[in-house]
Amino acid sequence: MKRNVCNPEALRDCTGCGICASVCSFDAIKIKEDRMGFYRPEINEALCTGCSLCTKVCYRFDGEISVEEQEDHECYSAVNKNDEELRSASSGAVSIELMRECLKRGYYVVGVAYDYSLNRAVTRIAKSENELEQFKGSKYFQSYTADAFKEMARDKSGQKYAVFGTPCQIYAVSKMSDLKAESDKYILVDIFCHGCPSLKLWDKYLEKIKEQKNIDRFDLISFRSKTHGWHEYCFDFVKGAQHFSSSKYNDAFHEIFFGKDAMNEACYDCLTRSTVVKTDIRMGDFWGGRYDLNTKGVSAVIISSEKGKELFDSVAHKFYFDRADFNEIISAQSYKKAHNLDNNRRNSVLSMLSGDEGIDTVVRKHRRMLSFKTNVKRNLKSILKHLPDSIYLRLKKKLR
Ligand SMILES: Cc1cc2nc3c(=O)[nH]c(=O)nc-3n(C[C@H](O)[C@H](O)[C@H](O)COP(=O)(O)OP(=O)(O)OC[C@H]3O[C@@H](n4cnc5c(N)ncnc54)[C@H](O)[C@@H]3O)c2cc1C
Repeated sequence: MKRNVCNPEALRDCTGCGICASVCSFDAIKIKEDRMGFYRPEINEALCTGCSLCTKVCYRFDGEISVEEQEDHECYSAVNKNDEELRSASSGAVSIELMRECLKRGYYVVGVAYDYSLNRAVTRIAKSENELEQFKGSKYFQSYTADAFKEMARDKSGQKYAVFGTPCQIYAVSKMSDLKAESDKYILVDIFCHGCPSLKLWDKYLEKIKEQKNIDRFDLISFRSKTHGWHEYCFDFVKGAQHFSSSKYNDAFHEIFFGKDAMNEACYDCLTRSTVVKTDIRMGDFWGGRYDLNTKGVSAVIISSEKGKELFDSVAHKFYFDRADFNEIISAQSYKKAHNLDNNRRNSVLSMLSGDEGIDTVVRKHRRMLSFKTNVKRNLKSILKHLPDSIYLRLKKKLR
């Protein structure tokens, strides 16, 4: 048997990061979406030489991965001074400023856009400032990376790349750069990550919205609109003059997303989200504690290398920022925490999402699988959301 990423001795599940396909010089690996809505490598055994390079860059085969204990990283809360930037970003609009600065320094910027014809998140390479706009805002499912990563990995021109992505994607790029002794070629920025749900969840949800509104294709979708405030997850959809937002009280996508029964298996106990050793900067929402009543968005920023420090320092004047404590930031994240994996529930939800039932039926059936306590908590939260923000956000704190 040739040694490649499909070998059964892998230590962990596939994240779908796509790095294996980008390093294979024989083009023996294609990244395909599987039946359950997750990206997976597919090997053409006829083209595979068994060189095993793909396993050397792969998290699944990395027996050395260490979840570091270091807690003295320089950390910040940051809020973009420009209100328009803040409004269009998921958190405190740190990402766009880092991207602009990288571009100014001659890096190409690799980020995640939404493809409106494929209805998928796609990792792309931006070479000019106006191309950066497409990367604004989180798209809450795994992006297809293979084409961009391949172009970047095979670029021998001396061009440098600033890569923005999930911890598993950034971990993979870092492994590749270590292996090729090319760390000068990259600057790496990742995000705190809850995990990525099946792409079928997005398909089912979008199908319902399109049907309800009798719209075939949207001009713009904001996956993390602040219409209901930074603490509420909300979609904004735009078609011509029509503009509408998802419900603040009950939203099928977010219920399943946060219900954690439809995630990629690798996301339940992912180690890459629990370390910052492979990234230069990690950014996310500054959840918990001091910003609980903020409604516009605050970023949490962890600086984990000299390169990261130098980059953040050069854009710091764009933000209102404050020093923060590493533990304060990670305590509100899934850093070093595994999500509970209930295989029966997960399998049922994934097969429903891949079947013919509509998203509302999936949600109803999923609720029936949950405990009485979980359902009461969800209903209570939804009722409390009718209160003014100043009261709701205080009560929500107590419900955690
Ligand atoms: C799947 C997913 C899960 C997340 N989970 C958490 C979490 O648990 N806790 C937390 O604090 N933050 C989480 N985030 C990160 C958070 O939503 C923001 O992306 C981050 O704080 C940057 O926000 P911003 O305001 O600086 O800029 P924004 O303008 O919102 O920047 C978006 C950035 O995210 C990148 N991006 C967008 N979609 C994707 C994607 N599908 N995959 C990879 N990169 C993407 C863009 O390239 C850009 O760099 C998650 C994001 C994603 C995509």
